[in-house]
Amino acid sequence: MILWQEQLPAAAPRPALPGDTQADVCVVGAGYTGLWTALHLKRLDPALRVVVVERDVAGAGASGRNGGWCSALFPTSWHRISRDAGREGVLAMQRALEDSVDEVGRSGIPCDFAKGGSIALVRSPAQLARAREQVAEARGWGFGPDTLDLVDAAAVQPRLAASRVLGAVTTEHCAALHPAKLARGLAVACEDAGVVIHEQTEAVRLEPGKVVTEHGTVTAEVVLPATEGYTAQLPGHRRDLAPVYSLMLATAPLPQDVWDQIGLADRATFTDERHLTVYGQRTADGRLAFGGRGAPYHFGSRVRPSYEQVPRVHEALARTLTELFPVLDGVPVTHRWGGNLGVPRDWFPSVGFDRTTGAAWAGGYVGDGVATANLAGRTLAHLITGVNSELVRLPWVRRRTQRWEPEPLRWIGVNAVTLLMRRADRVEARTGRPSRSAALFWRSLGH
Ligand SMILES: Cc1cc2nc3c(=O)[nH]c(=O)nc-3n(C[C@H](O)[C@H](O)[C@H](O)COP(=O)(O)OP(=O)(O)OC[C@H]3O[C@@H](n4cnc5c(N)ncnc54)[C@H](O)[C@@H]3O)c2cc1C
Repeated sequence: MILWQEQLPAAAPRPALPGDTQADVCVVGAGYTGLWTALHLKRLDPALRVVVVERDVAGAGASGRNGGWCSALFPTSWHRISRDAGREGVLAMQRALEDSVDEVGRSGIPCDFAKGGSIALVRSPAQLARAREQVAEARGWGFGPDTLDLVDAAAVQPRLAASRVLGAVTTEHCAALHPAKLARGLAVACEDAGVVIHEQTEAVRLEPGKVVTEHGTVTAEVVLPATEGYTAQLPGHRRDLAPVYSLMLATAPLPQDVWDQIGLADRATFTDERHLTVYGQRTADGRLAFGGRGAPYHFGSRVRPSYEQVPRVHEALARTLTELFPVLDGVPVTHRWGGNLGVPRDWFPSVGFDRTTGAAWAGGYVGDGVATANLAGRTLAHLITGVNSELVRLPWVRRRTQRWEPEPLRWIGVNAVTLLMRRADRVEARTGRPSRSAALFWRSLGH
């Protein structure tokens, strides 16, 4: 069961699309991307008819099941961004991402938003070497300690007391939030602004100016598939984004004496510097919610509810959590779930709008979509209504990402990367030196 969704009061689904209809903009998918876009469109032009069709209910996808890191993380390196957009592009993109964290907070949507920053623990000499490089690189671009800072073990201990800590890379630009409350609150804000949301309405085909659903066709000048990790299921979009699973668990609420030993009083989000990503947050009701990668990618970009339960990965996550915080030994894990995220071939998210065809797009956030989807929504609203702002000049705007290889190459490639990251962590733990194969992987993507 998904902790976040279980904690929401029960609500009946919104009515499905009653039949053929017309709109100015049709959004497919009621996650953060679709809903922020719809909301900002209505704010910019209240006369626009904006219809959202959602296969399940708002927030059923990654938006209602993620780790709740509202961060300024972006999966593409500054170096890679600078190749297309120069130094100014890097600075503008980072500023926009950091501002998006605050934008989500300023929205006022009740979602247990707590901006405590983020702590990436450094727990081996190899991680320390990488952490030093990251922070030196940040300084090279002119970013200060608010963006990235390296602190020693004594400085991190009062904020987060974990095992084998040599130091930490910290940032101020991150908030912890309740993902499903944000998704549900956003849907309500959209309706208050006049957006029409049809749940239980699956789009079966997209055509220029048309979204064909199981219940009728929405004819609209602008069509936005906001389907992220589900995009590959739409005809013609199979190779746009690879759905990669991320799995999570949550403990029972922890007593105050345990929190006194762990810390996180400001609800800073936390991770460590390993390659195979893990992420955690102290929830508003005092649990530890913790997740990570490592689940397999499925042939043909298939997505199934059964893929969200991988006992081997959930057990590994539970072991990692106890290894980080031995005080958690024996604490019950009450929830285990998972979801998929959309990975573009070059790990470079993008957002855009082609006025000649009416096709809009946004996504490919890898695992960093909570704040970035807000940026995508504001940017798309400007692109579609023709506002000439700084947002529409950001380096991720109007990029067309290369498509993934056909199968079986996609299956081999995506799963090989997971294996490579897991091995790199083992090699680093054994040798104390940064993994050369992991560094080579990033270089092969141009990062
Ligand atoms: C376990 C997990 C942990 C994560 N942790 C973090 C984190 O801590 N921080 C962070 O920044 N990011 C995180 N992410 C990523 C983040 O959640 C996503 O990037 C973000 O939610 C994407 O929002 P979206 O609206 O683009 O996609 P989604 O929220 O996936 O929404 C897509 C919607 O489209 C609907 N849909 C799909 N196909 C159709 C169709 N044919 N017709 C109609 N509707 C359709 C789906 O039902 C879904 O509601 C995590 C993701 C997962 C899975």
